[in-house]
Amino acid sequence: MLFNGGEKLILLKRDPPKKLLLANALLRRLDPNHELFSYYTNLSNRLQAGFQGEKRVDRHWLEITNLDKHYLLFNYECFNEFGFPHQIDTLLLTSKFLLIIDIKNISGRIDYDEDKHQLIRTNIDGSFDSFSSPFDQVIRHGQYFTRVFNQLKIPLPIECAIISSNPSTIIGNMPKHPLFFHVSGLRFYINKLVSNYDSVLSAQEMDRISKFLMANLKRQEPKVEIPIEHLRKGVLCEICNFKVQMQYRRGTWCCSKCGVRNKKAIFQALDDYRLLINDRITNQEFRDFFGVHSVYTASKVLLRLGLPTVGENRGRNYLIPENIIEGGPF
Ligand SMILES: [Zn+2]
Repeated sequence: MLFNGGEKLILLKRDPPKKLLLANALLRRLDPNHELFSYYTNLSNRLQAGFQGEKRVDRHWLEITNLDKHYLLFNYECFNEFGFPHQIDTLLLTSKFLLIIDIKNISGRIDYDEDKHQLIRTNIDGSFDSFSSPFDQVIRHGQYFTRVFNQLKIPLPIECAIISSNPSTIIGNMPKHPLFFHVSGLRFYINKLVSNYDSVLSAQEMDRISKFLMANLKRQEPKVEIPIEHLRKGVLCEICNFKVQMQYRRGTWCCSKCGVRNKKAIFQALDDYRLLINDRITNQEFRDFFGVHSVYTASKVLLRLGLPTVGENRGRNYLIPENIIEGGPF
């Protein structure tokens, strides 16, 4: 939990979405001629742009100073009582209101057709694209929290807004409620909410709601349906654009093409394995996937990584932590 000025509590920081990590892992390990390569290239570019846009919006919270104690949750995910998921770009909990924000990164001009529930983008060349309605999305999230707060007997008003993270977007015809505006307007929007509402929650009640939100946090797990045989195996050389499999020699990973030696290349490779195949690996699986021939060498490499293990002897599994790239849990 991060504190800023004693009043801003970031309960959930914004991490790259798992779908983006998966797409990038696939792009390292699929042949460019694979039928899904261009699909994952587009997906990665789109998710990366969306993530950057969300981070641009997040920075604006630092300049918002007129809120009393408040909690921010970035990329909050949960499941409702019917088992359906909610994915919310930003949640702001204050003593006066709960604000649900959807962040859109769409270039060109966008207009909304309220009767058709359709967001339409007009491109520079005059062509059109249609997007799912962000209004329906945030209203649906709001209805979920209304049900939750009714049940918990919490009289907290719920507000929704849609923010454009792309300054070049031309926001055309839009409904008046929820508002759709450029991120530069966030401060003014928050000011308006703060002056429109009175405090209805004590610090203890806010604390209770924040605990409820965190206890209900549940992320969807995106799955990859690509057979393992389609993936390029091995510890791959970053310098060679992940096209060349490195060999383990004298305590480090070496590329036979460019000659680079990189001890840390194994971290990226294990992270790919975690994302695409399994979050645990046996000695045998390690040898098969990373091209190490000797059981003894594989044991030595795995031991040096200091990964937590479960099971014994041949059944021993080494657990690959989510933060392996940052150096793992050791
Ligand atoms: Zn290389």
